[in-house]
Amino acid sequence: MIDNYSDEDIQERLVALTRDLILIPSIPSRPEDLRRCYEFIKNHLECLDNIEVREFEHQGSPSLVATPPGCKKPDILMCGHLDVITHPVASYRSYMENGRIYGPGAGDMKGSVAILLEIFRNIHTRFPNASLGIGITSDEETGGTSGVGYLFNEAGVSCGEAMIPDGGSLNEITIEEKGILHLKLTCHGHSAHAARPWLGDNPLERLMDHLTKLRKFFSDMKQEEHHWIPTCAVTIIETENQTINRIPTDATAVLDIRFPPPFTVEKIVAQIKETLTEDVDFEIIISAEPTHLSPDKSYEVITEEVTGKAIKHVRDDGGSDARYLSKFGIPVMMSRPLVGNLHAQDEWIDIHSMVQLYRIYEKFLIKKLTEN
Ligand SMILES: [Zn+2]
Repeated sequence: MIDNYSDEDIQERLVALTRDLILIPSIPSRPEDLRRCYEFIKNHLECLDNIEVREFEHQGSPSLVATPPGCKKPDILMCGHLDVITHPVASYRSYMENGRIYGPGAGDMKGSVAILLEIFRNIHTRFPNASLGIGITSDEETGGTSGVGYLFNEAGVSCGEAMIPDGGSLNEITIEEKGILHLKLTCHGHSAHAARPWLGDNPLERLMDHLTKLRKFFSDMKQEEHHWIPTCAVTIIETENQTINRIPTDATAVLDIRFPPPFTVEKIVAQIKETLTEDVDFEIIISAEPTHLSPDKSYEVITEEVTGKAIKHVRDDGGSDARYLSKFGIPVMMSRPLVGNLHAQDEWIDIHSMVQLYRIYEKFLIKKLTEN
């Protein structure tokens, strides 16, 4: 069946929808706006004929899965998140320049959510009852445990294959993601006047010694040629102190550690514990194993056909919602339009590449869902 939409039509629809989505500041600190964005997307899906929207909520994060009625395990599920990281700006607006849409969340991932919504509508209009679902969650930027994690681990959602346009690039298909370990270290001591430090036991200074050992542990693994190695960033250090001339009672540091295979959570935790001595408390905030995405070969071929350029397999230093699916052996297709300055105020998405990704999805979905 021939698509009745020209590239211009699609572009117009994608741009309008992306800009509407950016206008809603769907950030973790504004749950009512997060909910507003969720309702906006739900309304888009509910007005489609012959589509059932199932709603979920876990720890305050709303999610939905839309499929044809009764379709419990779609052959293909497209996943997107509507939440955006909190930007230090007063207003969430977008503008267009040089063929790009600029605005908070344009690239991660409201532009891509617009593509998912449009292609979902288009495929179901042309192929009623196609085994295609869409899942929209609202907590990816804060870990995904109440979104995709909850849907797949607890709510019984499943699928044959998944498409998540939240990593890679137009011709760069993500095949591996690093594992994640968010770690909190706490040292206990006892306070004293800072003029008489010999009367106290300074936990902050001991914590600093531990961090120095850990920094050496990670820098010993550094390589000149690439960054596909374990890394560690100290992101928070704090004490209860409000005053300068007091030795604190406790000191904590939070670390963001990322690691590729063959490291596992267990292995890296054991090595870190070995590096530290016993006077430090060790708390794992989040952990996730490295992820293999195993994309479908025909997705790669179609990407090359639509773009006229060879694809490249890439590895991602960051993690995504794909980790919750690959542990069930579900292949994940992960590439996205050209984007830049992610998580910055002038985040952008390239409009032409949005249309190209739309065409890749269209071709792939029609092939997978109608040829059997
Ligand atoms: Zn994202």
